[in-house]
Amino acid sequence: MRPNRSKPMKNTITPNGNKLSGIFCNFFGHHFVVSKKVTQHIKEYKCVHCGKQVTTDERGKLSPLTPKLKEINRTLEDMYQRRNRVRARGKSARKQVA
Ligand SMILES: [Zn+2]
Repeated sequence: MRPNRSKPMKNTITPNGNKLSGIFCNFFGHHFVVSKKVTQHIKEYKCVHCGKQVTTDERGKLSPLTPKLKEINRTLEDMYQRRNRVRARGKSARKQVA
């Protein structure tokens, strides 16, 4: 067995040491993966190369993830999860939320 401390699961790309990745993105475009599911239709994405974050806006288009959109997504996520929790009530134990 090999200890894997030399290769952490996350942050293999540091936000600051990614100049080459940025150039890569300029040539080939960003490679977005879903970083967070907000609702069934709205998700947040992150570029695996440069870490740029975008989100689906209300028109279904991708927009840069600004603090304002983040805030909106948080609200939407909260509403979405609350609705799901109500629907799923009785199936599983209620989660304690502070
Ligand atoms: Zn990128």
